[in-house]
Amino acid sequence: MMIACLPGDGIGPEIMAEALRVLAALDLGIETAIADVGGAAYKAHGHPLPPETLELARTSDAVLFGAVGDPECDNLERHLRPEQAILGLRSALGLFANLRPATMFKGLEDMSALKPEVASAIDLLIVRELNGDVYFGEKAQRVLEDGRRQGYDFMSYAEDEVRRIAHVAFRAAQGRKGKLCSVDKANVLETSQLWRDVVIEVAAEYPDVELSHMYVDNAAMQLVRNPGQFDVVVTGNLFGDILSDQASMCVGSIGLLASAALGERQTASGTFGLYEPIHGSAPDIAGQDKANPMAMILSLAMLLRHSLGLEEAAVRVEKAVSQALADGITGADLGGSAGTTEVGDAVLARL
Ligand code: ATP
Ligand code: MG
Repeated sequence: MMIACLPGDGIGPEIMAEALRVLAALDLGIETAIADVGGAAYKAHGHPLPPETLELARTSDAVLFGAVGDPECDNLERHLRPEQAILGLRSALGLFANLRPATMFKGLEDMSALKPEVASAIDLLIVRELNGDVYFGEKAQRVLEDGRRQGYDFMSYAEDEVRRIAHVAFRAAQGRKGKLCSVDKANVLETSQLWRDVVIEVAAEYPDVELSHMYVDNAAMQLVRNPGQFDVVVTGNLFGDILSDQASMCVGSIGLLASAALGERQTASGTFGLYEPIHGSAPDIAGQDKANPMAMILSLAMLLRHSLGLEEAAVRVEKAVSQALADGITGADLGGSAGTTEVGDAVLARL
């Protein structure tokens, strides 16, 4: 098995180094190969996503991705900017399912935007469709006959697009508490009505998963009122964009949140995917041993679970991280004083 490691810019290389130390300590016999991406790739090869990097990603079982974004590249033409690398990877690799877990770690309840007793129950996974919806429909501005300007965005989902994300979500629910909540706006939107119909069809293949439906406005409210009721939430691109950011604030630090983007290709023991922290390259703290590597380490855990089928190893990593947090090992992002390598050491010690 082979992992393509793309550290990227800013704090990317520092936090990637900690994740790779964790991987080495697990001693799973997994090969790794490192390649440039983002601003680092632009500076070395003239392009944020060089063909060699894309090829490496394509031929691996999974991609571990740090972060891209470099203030020195802000004035480049759009297609040369570091951020284009992640968009390019998602589309070239056909990654259509975004998984974002939000779990409340013990001892960090005070970091939540919610009351600690409400936040402590959070252990959910948002599965967001990534390739469709209003973001990718025809869009334009035009001037109407009476001279008023109008903007429009065409929202659509085809049934196969809904079906494949539904399968990802049902499988994820099977690996968790067996509950899936599909979020839509079927009382108003035709796309949502189709979404709901297809999710119900797919549910027939997963009798062990308990399916419920919720309108997105209610879901936004429930996420704050009683987030403990959710296990897996599946939703479209637009609603998922909003709800997943909302969910991250419910659990606190940006330095703790991992994500996966899965495609259709199956690996020997899972699904091909790209794994990255939800935070960016944090140029303000790069190179100062201040970045919290936990989101990167937890991204590695997701990789082991979803792409390599190594559930036991994934749980080991997750437990080591939550144990370190429970023992009070926190970086500046959580009001603590532990540096990047110190946090890495603490996690390694608890593996
Ligand atoms: P992007 O556009 O790439 O998402 P951004 O401008 O939204 O980037 P981030 O890079 O995510 O921002 O950083 C936002 C803030 O959070 C910064 O002040 C940064 O230092 C801090 N931050 C981000 N990641 C971490 C981390 N792993 N550890 C500590 N602080 C972090
Ligand atoms: Mg951001």
